[in-house]
Amino acid sequence: MDRRRTAYHEAGHAVMCYLSGTRELLGATVIPKDGDHGAVQFGEVPAAVVKEIESLEPSPQSANWLEQEVLFLLSGMVAEEIEFGDYFKGGVQVDIDAATERAFLFCDGDSPEAISSFLDRKRGDAEAILRRNWKAVRAVATALCERGTVSASELTAIVKDSTEVTGDEGKSP
Ligand SMILES: [Zn+2]
Repeated sequence: MDRRRTAYHEAGHAVMCYLSGTRELLGATVIPKDGDHGAVQFGEVPAAVVKEIESLEPSPQSANWLEQEVLFLLSGMVAEEIEFGDYFKGGVQVDIDAATERAFLFCDGDSPEAISSFLDRKRGDAEAILRRNWKAVRAVATALCERGTVSASELTAIVKDSTEVTGDEGKSP
């Protein structure tokens, strides 16, 4: 997996993490480590959400959190697809497995078909969101390519800068 591809993959995760606010964004890197190609560092799942998920009775808030988390997990793969027309299968399997695990919680008791159509729908949502904020994804990917590692404050500044120009849909000047 080359550095540019990894940069877009991690940029997709980072931008979605910032937009959805499910977890605290702590940094991103494309420097390979421990067999990983790159990584986005993010905060823990909020304790209240963990508790509800474990009880298998998610409130609307934690259901919403799970839904956002699925978007976040699928965003690396989706960003690769937008930029390169395909994705590196070995690199996204761990994301797909995690998203499927979350989808099982979300679609409790539903059939594998229901879960796979839920994931398809979320993949479409993730694509629409990333395309609307592509300027931010590209800016983060470029920074990752150039510098290897980008800190949380730099990531936030880059995404803010890029989304303020393109992200305020429907807002009059
Ligand atoms: Zn990923």
